[in-house]
Amino acid sequence: MSALANNYKRKKLSFVKGNGSFLLTSNGQKYLDFVQGIAVNSLGHANKKLVKAINKQSKKLWHVSNAFTIPEGEKLAKKLVERTFANSVIFQNSGAEATEAAIKVARRYFYSIGKEYKNKIICIKNSFHGRTIAAIHASGSKKMTQGFGPKVPGFDHFNFGDHKKLKKIITKNTAAIMIETIMGEGGIKVIPSWCIKEIRNLCNKKGILLILDEVQCGIGRSGKFFAFEYAKVKPDIVPIAKGIGGGFPIGAVLMTKKVAKSMTPGTHGSTFGGNPLAMAVGNAVLDQINNNLLKNVNKMSKYFISNLNILKKKYPKIIKEVRGLGLLIGLQLFNDQNKFIKKLMNNKLLTIRAAENVVRILPPLNVKKSEIDLALKIIDKVCKEYK
Ligand SMILES: *Cc1c(COP(=O)(O)O)cnc(C)c1O
Repeated sequence: MSALANNYKRKKLSFVKGNGSFLLTSNGQKYLDFVQGIAVNSLGHANKKLVKAINKQSKKLWHVSNAFTIPEGEKLAKKLVERTFANSVIFQNSGAEATEAAIKVARRYFYSIGKEYKNKIICIKNSFHGRTIAAIHASGSKKMTQGFGPKVPGFDHFNFGDHKKLKKIITKNTAAIMIETIMGEGGIKVIPSWCIKEIRNLCNKKGILLILDEVQCGIGRSGKFFAFEYAKVKPDIVPIAKGIGGGFPIGAVLMTKKVAKSMTPGTHGSTFGGNPLAMAVGNAVLDQINNNLLKNVNKMSKYFISNLNILKKKYPKIIKEVRGLGLLIGLQLFNDQNKFIKKLMNNKLLTIRAAENVVRILPPLNVKKSEIDLALKIIDKVCKEYK
């Protein structure tokens, strides 16, 4: 019996080694890993430059308090600012911490301009922003909040696509709208560009802030550095995590100068967030998320999605829709997807579920065409045998 709590439905399968797109079990079985720690290992397993960076830093300095200047963090923040809309960064350790920090920044901004009453955050019902007490109530998901009351106030919700309701629930107390640019856990639902634009305009009109949660879809996963670049909008605050650490726990909140000004000394902090070891890895990840890599994401995405659509035509009773952007891909089935995912796994392809019967497919951003061909072959086989 496991000494671990039962809060995960873990598979029996476990691994001892990873290399690029592949994972190995202790008895030498090889799996094509298109989960990659849920969009975390953006450069695959055991990426040479990341191994080198962490080894090098681990011999020098792991951790010092944020009471001191951390050059590796200064460097990573500068790179993030140079590449994006942001002027300022706070480092955390995870996605939930990053979204919580985003909420704090939005509230603190209005406090700092004498409008403390503007503190409510509007989110999409059944979205995903992490598992802390505030983040689960931000999601508005009954399943995630059940048994974890009392309800945390300060969040209002609208259904995906219901802009009428959205307009109605904005009040003088609203501070921000916080949405995932692409809803990951929610079923790889890409929010259309016109919709993001309309929400940006609405925020401008109402004088509220736009928080775009790019924890899952950011850092190249969508084919652009940030998924919101497709909509050509500028958010005010963007939490990131997953892909930026390449497997090392890193989170961050990116923000404009306007809102960052409110985060004065003592307003926020983290013991571990932004320590030298994490930052050395983050720098080594970001240096590899270059134009060539983004080109690969787009090329492989086009190839993968067009071939998945061919499979959809071939198996019209099994595959309902192919969704996603870049290498954040969802295969929506007509029926419960868990059995399908298990069969893929039995055929040595790892994928993971998302809501709405979606099989989530998350190759590393440096995936090769031959690896996608292998995945397509396995998906085809499982569809053929599927009843
Ligand atoms: C995974 C995820 C989070 C939470 O990240 P953790 O590191 O698990 O806390 C928040 N927002 C989105 C969009 C995510 O996909």
